[in-house]
Amino acid sequence: MALYVHKYGGTSVGTTDRIEGVAQKIKKFKDAGHDVVVAVSAMSGETNRLIGLAKAISDEPTPREMDVLVSTGEQVTISLLSMALHKIGLPARSYTGSQVRILTDSAHGKARIQDIDTQRIRADLDQGRVVIVAGFQGVDEHGSITTLGRGGSDTTGVALAAALEAHECHIYTDVDGVYTTDPRVVDKAKRLDKITFEEMLEMASLGSKVLQIRSVEFAGKYKVPLRVLHSREEGSGTLITTEDDSSVEKPVISGIAFNRDEAKLTVMGVPDIPGVASKILGPISAANIEVDMIVQNVAADNTTDFTFTVHRNDFASAETVLKAVAEELGAREVSTDNKITKVSIVGVGMRSHAGVASKMFDVLAQENINIQIISTSEIKISVVIAEKYLELAVRALHTAFGLDDDTK
Ligand code: ADP
Ligand code: ASP
Ligand code: MG
Repeated sequence: MALYVHKYGGTSVGTTDRIEGVAQKIKKFKDAGHDVVVAVSAMSGETNRLIGLAKAISDEPTPREMDVLVSTGEQVTISLLSMALHKIGLPARSYTGSQVRILTDSAHGKARIQDIDTQRIRADLDQGRVVIVAGFQGVDEHGSITTLGRGGSDTTGVALAAALEAHECHIYTDVDGVYTTDPRVVDKAKRLDKITFEEMLEMASLGSKVLQIRSVEFAGKYKVPLRVLHSREEGSGTLITTEDDSSVEKPVISGIAFNRDEAKLTVMGVPDIPGVASKILGPISAANIEVDMIVQNVAADNTTDFTFTVHRNDFASAETVLKAVAEELGAREVSTDNKITKVSIVGVGMRSHAGVASKMFDVLAQENINIQIISTSEIKISVVIAEKYLELAVRALHTAFGLDDDTK
């Protein structure tokens, strides 16, 4: 007998039928003698619907009230799942984040979990109950409801598993595991049996939204065995694990991630003097805008072109800030492009293989795809390209790096 934490995402609880299906899945674990704690998301589309309601009233609703609003989606699903379990004879109790006491900081909309009180959960488990916890939400020290950022129920699941020292944390979703790239974009994407925390963290950070970034960070930090599985199909899914030292040779590239949420801004003809980068990026960061990639090129006339990327949601405000800065610096012009995308290849095997970058650039060149920005780290290479080439680029790289599942 072991303790499992299950997390079910929005599509997996998207209808009452599916919720009853989830109850059956949980029953299988209970019948096998295991304890189960469940974290659930809101029904699919619900969080977006709630955000839409707020936007209909105000352009800038306060973060505190937004959290009160968007946390309600999960409260619906915990109660419905609990009812579905009762219906098939399983004792169960549902709790909101604040009832459990999932304590977070006060950063509304992107709160971090600081502590989980496991007392109530343990008492219910001792009574043979299934415990269902609302994902995505917590409470701060002042008693205000907080939320953990989009996709945050993954983090609730992993944090519960860490706090309860669960045997495994299962993330049930609408795909049967983590693939070499988004299977909705590349038909020949291959399911991975295993992937390291480090690689999964890069994949998530670079745009593979199958797991929220923080959930992977958390799982890596607390060594929570994490598995991604399909909620309506059988299978062993993908295990996210620490790097094993087996002698099996690792593939150079484990996966390809992409992010369509970026936008690019360039200020041209800036005098090339010390302090320029900070003069440009200081006001951007003061406006609470996070910068992702940065490039600076010096021209022969002693001016520089300075390019950076931001999240598309921040594009308009970044442009306003940058135009003011450009005028102050006496720059020639500001140009912007929000039809770009970042494509990244990820793999721990890259550490021991030279020539991966040139192969990537070669493949893109053969497809006539122009690279606008490049950035690299030990285990990833990212390029910014025009959005219209996204699918072509990902497919070509997927084939070139030997990732295609040829049985498909
Ligand atoms: P949930 O609602 O269960 O949290 P998400 O939509 O957040 O589900 O995550 C699952 C989706 O992630 C899949 O439907 C898939 O399109 C997408 N995805 C992106 N990259 C990958 C990848 N490398 N492997 C598997 N799925 C991926
Ligand atoms: N319901 C939240 C969202 O849509 C949290 C989650 O599903 O993980 O982002
Ligand atoms: Mg998700």
